[in-house]
Amino acid sequence: MPLNKPPLPDTLKKSPWSNLLMLLFLVASLMVLYNFFGEQKEVETLSYNSFKTEIGQGTIKEIMIDKDQVTAAGRRVPGQKPHYYRTVLPPFQDKAFFDLLEKHHVEIRVKSQKESALWVALVSMLPWLLFLWLIFFFASRMRQHMDNVQGGLLNFIKSTAKKYEKRRSAIGYDDVAGLENAKKELAEVVDFLKNPVRYEQIGAQIPKGILLMGPPGTGKTLLAKAVAGEADVPFFSISGSEFVEVFVGVGASRVRDLFESAKKEAPAIVFIDEIDSIGRARGAGIGGGYDEKEQTLNQILSELDGFEPNEQVVVLAATNRPDILDPALLRPGRFDRKIILAMPSKEAREKILQIHTKKVRKEASVDLAKLAKLTVGFNGADLKNLVNEAAMYAARQKKEKVTQDDLLYARDRILMGIEQEFAMDEKDKKRVAIHEAGHALTALLLKHADPLEKVSIIPRGWALGATEQLPKKDMRNFPQSYLLDKIGVMLGGRVSEQILLHELSSGAANDLEEATALAVHMVCQWGMSSEIGPVHYKRGEEHVFLGREMAMPKNFSEATAKLIDDEVRMLITQKEEEVTRLLNVHKEELTLLAEELQERETMNKEEIEILLQHSKKTSSAE
Ligand code: ADP
Ligand code: MG
Ligand code: ZN
Repeated sequence: MPLNKPPLPDTLKKSPWSNLLMLLFLVASLMVLYNFFGEQKEVETLSYNSFKTEIGQGTIKEIMIDKDQVTAAGRRVPGQKPHYYRTVLPPFQDKAFFDLLEKHHVEIRVKSQKESALWVALVSMLPWLLFLWLIFFFASRMRQHMDNVQGGLLNFIKSTAKKYEKRRSAIGYDDVAGLENAKKELAEVVDFLKNPVRYEQIGAQIPKGILLMGPPGTGKTLLAKAVAGEADVPFFSISGSEFVEVFVGVGASRVRDLFESAKKEAPAIVFIDEIDSIGRARGAGIGGGYDEKEQTLNQILSELDGFEPNEQVVVLAATNRPDILDPALLRPGRFDRKIILAMPSKEAREKILQIHTKKVRKEASVDLAKLAKLTVGFNGADLKNLVNEAAMYAARQKKEKVTQDDLLYARDRILMGIEQEFAMDEKDKKRVAIHEAGHALTALLLKHADPLEKVSIIPRGWALGATEQLPKKDMRNFPQSYLLDKIGVMLGGRVSEQILLHELSSGAANDLEEATALAVHMVCQWGMSSEIGPVHYKRGEEHVFLGREMAMPKNFSEATAKLIDDEVRMLITQKEEEVTRLLNVHKEELTLLAEELQERETMNKEEIEILLQHSKKTSSAE
């Protein structure tokens, strides 16, 4: 991801080459320095004549001849610095000169030409080396600069796909908990990548493109890596979000590069993560980068189509928005195999917790099965986060081991936000207690509601209080009675305020929003209104896995719109009336619970049941 790559420090960026050049540079400068200081000896430059005169006077002890250069050392005179001379030999034979040397017993040394030739060659190469080094230095500087600015033109075109070594990737199936179905389906691919010949011989064609679909954090990326690990093949991965580039055409060339490298290393896996960010249905693009995405997508399509039948490259892709993918991607021969990764069940959650607590020192009393039960709606990433939060919390308290309480603390923190440290005044506290007591008691009284777990009036995140229910099991399908009682519990807070305070507050806004959204679903999509009947009306484009809606033109008339609104309102008001009747009947218990809650701030299910049974006994005894 060149765009997000943090700038590396200079020392890390340099290639080994530039280190070598650096060394050469150092040596060169040392030599220059040596020569420079060499000059500092007192060397007298003489004319050839004067030099001969000096010899004649017997002041010279020895000479060194290097081609036409002559350096001479004077005889030592005690108390004086040694004296040096220099001159240049004339380009003709001067027999008299050598006779003179002989006569005055001057030591003659001649520098070997072989040695000096090497020396000269080295010296003459120096400027070039320096020059090269400079070019290198600036080039790397440039590249670094480009990297910082916009991804670096050089890296830019090259795919940023990470290539994992051709050895077992560190991740295998053991690191992925649950997802048994997905693993089973992918086992086929693993087997193919391990024994491609067997498949080829029998004439079987393995699906080229496999799309992993599922909510965020369910382990799509993890599973893809695990497949590569199991199959023991190179893994080339790239993320769709990396293609949000400025220059058109770059994404496409990266895709081309990616597939080329993978084919060279076949058998191999190509993994395109978050493919929805490029593979969004064409023409449905919102915002910029449209051309770029289109080209990138086209390149992916043509790469998929361009596979030879016996190419041993499997393309995995992951998305949490399969609904918006371009249909062209899903055509047979492309991503025709789809694997759904579901939210983890209770058992899977326990296994995920086991995996992530492996490296955490924990007390023997830690009960992961119980924690798994208490983490309905948590995905793999949430659970990993939970374990880490708990470990950090334990460390902050200077504990040696993580306890169950630490894990539960982390769970509450993730689920409801961090506890707020502001003090509510008694009046506010009373109101919140009454509101939450209403939710809690409704949850206890309504037969189909999720069982009550805990109620608290400690402010967390945005909420002033919270009532927590725990589904008996992981639910995939919701009966009408369950949904109606869910709406009832949501309304319980507001009804309780109305009964005990005879006044409403803004605190129920969120409850009403959720209740309304649920009612709309029941009426428009699940055919649970007799007036509307078994018709599906789309109110917005719904993200299958994100549970969010986007604005979209409605596909029904104004008259139907009014009918829907009426039905939704009726459904909610009817439920509100029912809950009002119910809480009025149990007004004493409601009051008692609210008062106790105001006192204790947090109560769990057992505490509430004991309190209410106690009150029943005393009231029946009276
Ligand atoms: P996705 O790609 O579906 O959004 P990831 O694969 O990135 O999710 O999962 C995020 C992290 O959550 C993973 O690194 C892993 O540690 C953890 N995780 C998710 N699902 C599982 C699982 N089934 N088993 C173990 N760890 C999981
Ligand atoms: Mg992912
Ligand atoms: Zn509420």
